[in-house]
Parts: sequence; C-alpha cells; structure tokens
Amino acid sequence: MAAYLPFHVPEIDDEDIEAVVNVMRSGWLTTGAKARQFEQEFAAKVGARYAVALNSCTAALHLALEAIGLVEGDEVLVPTMTFAATAEVVTYFKAKPVLIDCLPDTLNMNPDLLERAITPRTKAVIPVHFAGQPCDMTRILEVGRRHNLRIIEDAAHAFPASYKGKSIGSIGDCTCFSFYATKNITTGEGGMVTTDDAECADRMRRMSLHGLSRDAWKRYTNQGSWYYEIVAPGFKYNLTDMAAALGLSQLHKADRFWKTRERYAALYADGFRDLPEITPLGIQDDVQHAWHLYVIQLDPARLRITREAFIERLQQQQIGCSVHFIPLHLHPYYRNAWGYNPEQFPVASRAFQRMVSLPLYSKMSEMDIHRTIAAVREIVLEGRQ
Ligand SMILES: *Cc1c(COP(=O)(O)O)cnc(C)c1O
Repeated sequence: MAAYLPFHVPEIDDEDIEAVVNVMRSGWLTTGAKARQFEQEFAAKVGARYAVALNSCTAALHLALEAIGLVEGDEVLVPTMTFAATAEVVTYFKAKPVLIDCLPDTLNMNPDLLERAITPRTKAVIPVHFAGQPCDMTRILEVGRRHNLRIIEDAAHAFPASYKGKSIGSIGDCTCFSFYATKNITTGEGGMVTTDDAECADRMRRMSLHGLSRDAWKRYTNQGSWYYEIVAPGFKYNLTDMAAALGLSQLHKADRFWKTRERYAALYADGFRDLPEITPLGIQDDVQHAWHLYVIQLDPARLRITREAFIERLQQQQIGCSVHFIPLHLHPYYRNAWGYNPEQFPVASRAFQRMVSLPLYSKMSEMDIHRTIAAVREIVLEGRQ
C-alpha cells in the first residue's frame, strides 16, 4: 500500500530554516528589520503602497475594519462560503455579519445579491477569493462605489493572484493575506494587510502594537528611545522577525510554488474531464488563479455513493482530502445568534453537500497527483449510477 498522502505539507527547505536560525542568532527576535523588509518586498510584489505584517490574516481583517471606523450596529456583507475568520471579526465590533450566497460554478460571492442586502447601516463588503480565484471585482467595486461601502478583501487564498491584470493586494481599500501553515506561502502563523491609504496603514500599524505612538517598536534598538505614548487602546498583532524571515524566504519562492500548483491543477482538470460525475470549479478567463485549493463537486444524481463515502474511500486509499467550507449559515452560532437558515442560501447549502477538496501543494510530486486522479477515477467508476 502506498504511503499516506497528507492533504497538505508546507514546502520548507534549508534556506528557509537558515533564515529563521540567523534571526535567532542575531539577538533580535520580535518585530524589527526583517518584518520591515518583508512588508516592503510584499508590497512591491502585489503593487500596493503600504503593507503591515501581522500575526494572522484574522488580525489583518480585524485591523482593517477598525481602521475604516466600523462601530456597533453597522453591517458588513460577507460570503457564507468562507472560513470562520471572515465574519467573526465583524462581531468583534458588535456589528452584523450579513451573509451572502455564492455562485454555483466558482463558489465566489454572488455580486447580484449584494445590492438587495444593503441597508443604511452597511459599511463594508469582505469578498473572499475562494480557493484562490479572484471575485468579480469590477462588479463589487461598482456596487461599493454606488453605496459608499469600503472593500476589505479576504485574500487568505489569493497569493499570488490577479484580476484583469491587477494583482490582488492592489485593488480594494485593504487586502488581507494569510501565512497560516497551510496557505500558499507560510510563516507558521502570520498575515499581511496591504493598502494604498497612508492614514489607514498608519492606523493599522499603530493598533497592531497596543496603539502606541509611531515607531514604538524601535524602542529597544539603538534607533529608539524609551519614550512612547498610548494614543488608542490597541491590540497585540505584530509579526516576529523569526516569522518574517521565513516569510521573506518563502516570498522569494512564491512564483515557483505557484507554477507547480497551476501545473498540478491542469493535470487534475485533464484527469477528470471525461467524468460527468465530478465537476471542478469554473474558472474565469480574466484572472490569475492562486490555486490554493482544488475543489471538485460531486453530482449526487449520477453517483450511488455519498460525499461522505467518497471521502472515506479516498482516505482508505491513503489520500488526505478535506471540505472547504462548511458554510457559515450552517454553524450553530450563525443559526442561533443571527437566525440564518439553509433555505436562505440555496447555492452554498447545495454546494456544501457536494464538495471535496483534493490535495494541491508544491511539495507533492507529479506522481502524487496521478495517484490521486487514479483513486478518484476508481471511486467514481465504481460508484456510477
Ligand atoms: C485561513 C483563512 C483565514 C484566516 O487566516 P489566519 O492567518 O489563520 O488568521 C481567513 N479567511 C480565509 C478564507 C481563510 O482560509
């Protein structure tokens, strides 16, 4: 029996390890020169004026909403097909996460549903570039402009990605990236927020470090002084230099990682093309897809086996897979606290029953992809109606 193929393994090489160890030897472990360099190189890579390195994408989303002045009673439009982080940050302000259904083919937020969800309390939209495929930003920006909404992008899946030739990170008011262990580049835990607005960047930087006055992080270096002022009650969201060194090293390999992901995604698409029982997500032609996830949808009308049985069979064949995501409206908190029910989100509710995420990462070999294709084909051929 072949060895177990995990759903994800990060690609960490000796260069990455050396970069972290060098910081550990340097005597400066927390936020400092490496974090600044990571911010500058990341901002340049995505074409943003400013980037602030943080300890998670969740922190980035939180600080972005804080910087736009979200307050109690406000509303924020959030797709239901996403991870917990995207909507929970709205509740930090006692504001309301207004869930939006997705499109059946890409599973991105359906822009046609935005307008009717807008009320006088709506302040922002948080589009999520699901699986790494950019949302229809033209439509979302247009609705946002018409209703004076801020656009905070959840780009946890979308690095590197672009929409109509513009990098994700240079489009919305703020864009939030994740360097969590399973994301396209990783710092273990980490995040980045990009913006072109100097005041917003300043606010997010300050609030990431207790709301201390400018450059307080330098206070233990030879450039700093012991003096600081607390200008607002902030948070503790800064990224360490150890993590930033790993991030920099990973950033330099991001294009290679992406090319491998793209090539593997094309192999999957070829491997499943003749199977009407499974449908990969639809791909728009004006985007560069980051290929964070490879999601297929099973057609229950053509299969005798359930999605659960399908996953179990893949596990039996020693192939790790997952489901992204259990839509937010199906979780007890969103049902109980906000009264959401499955009927309000027919597309996401239906997609959830059918989805499987297959392993897709640069550390896999091409053989692993072919093995996964063969396993999926075997399960489908056996389970055909
Ligand atoms: C991973 C993820 C996040 C959270 O990222 P962290 O860095 O772990 O905070 C947010 N949104 C989506 C869609 C994610 O997949």
